[in-house]
Amino acid sequence: MTGSSGSAGSPGSAGRQVSGRVSSGRELSGRELAAEIRAATAARAAGLTAAGRPPRLAVVTATADEASAWYVRSLARTAVKAGIACDVTDLVPNDPERLESQAATVVGIREALEALSEDPLVHGILLQTPLPGGTPLAELAGFIDPAKDVDGANPVSLGRLMTGLPAFASATAAAVLALLDHHRVALSGRRAVVVGRSAVVGKPVAQLLLSRDATVTVCHSRTPDLAAVTSEAEVLVVAAGRAGLIGVGHVSPGAVVVDVGTNATAGVGLAGDVDPAVAEVAGALSPVPGGVGPVTTAMLLRQVTEAAEAAGLEVP
Ligand code: NAP
Repeated sequence: MTGSSGSAGSPGSAGRQVSGRVSSGRELSGRELAAEIRAATAARAAGLTAAGRPPRLAVVTATADEASAWYVRSLARTAVKAGIACDVTDLVPNDPERLESQAATVVGIREALEALSEDPLVHGILLQTPLPGGTPLAELAGFIDPAKDVDGANPVSLGRLMTGLPAFASATAAAVLALLDHHRVALSGRRAVVVGRSAVVGKPVAQLLLSRDATVTVCHSRTPDLAAVTSEAEVLVVAAGRAGLIGVGHVSPGAVVVDVGTNATAGVGLAGDVDPAVAEVAGALSPVPGGVGPVTTAMLLRQVTEAAEAAGLEVP
């Protein structure tokens, strides 16, 4: 949990400090870090289980979305390997006779989240998107107990993060910071630019960078001359969901670039928001896949064990 048990990740053994504009073209891989986090999480989960408090994650799905279903299956497998139980509550009625029944009701989702929030055997709750009728995640995630909000989706969690109180950041935002720390990227006093302002990625990433004393600018779809702003970044984090949005002309030589984007593209498969050619000018670039993605899953499970540990400390 950010603010109570330290920031996401800690400087690892991955090499020398990348201080702003040193040109090296390094790949900021997330695979080694993800394995480290998973191993540490498994050890903590084993300790909790031995103490009679096995950590448990509850995932709620509310629409029949193929990409979401694939992610949930993968997450459940990874959780079980780490010794964390993962229950999936599928609220989709899935009645092939009635098209309108392919999504849960808002009331049904709220009731499920409230019940899981009150269940002492559940330590982490994840509400999967998309939600029915385009309901904003923040609206329903408000029914997740902040102590179990392991993906930082409840607006209370983001508010606490912004005011410096202990809270879970979104796993993706925490993963970005963990990746930067693992590769020893200096942040204090650095000029950071975040492309994207969603409550799930852009805003919490910007907040976490700010809390590490970076000077942060947030860009979005209405930012005029994006390249002029991103070119000023010593650390550039891109989370726009637009394949190849950031090209060579957007990045200053030696800058550290973290690509959060995951875009399914015909032919290439999974593509980031950053053109791979940026590696030729950047000091370091995270790959897609293999950068932020694996760290995000590992971080989510770490936050489940943190929630389970904290639950054990509650005065009955
Ligand atoms: P989102 O809610 O759609 O937000 C996208 C943001 O990017 C918005 O703030 C939008 O601006 C901005 N944007 C869109 N087009 C832009 C442009 N041409 N120039 C500048 N800014 C632009 O998406 P999200 O949930 O934050 O996710 C962003 C990306 O990260 C997606 O590719 C998603 O798949 C990926 N992701 C990856 C992970 C992971 O673990 N690796 C986890 C979560 C998300 P406006 O606000 O003005 O619309």
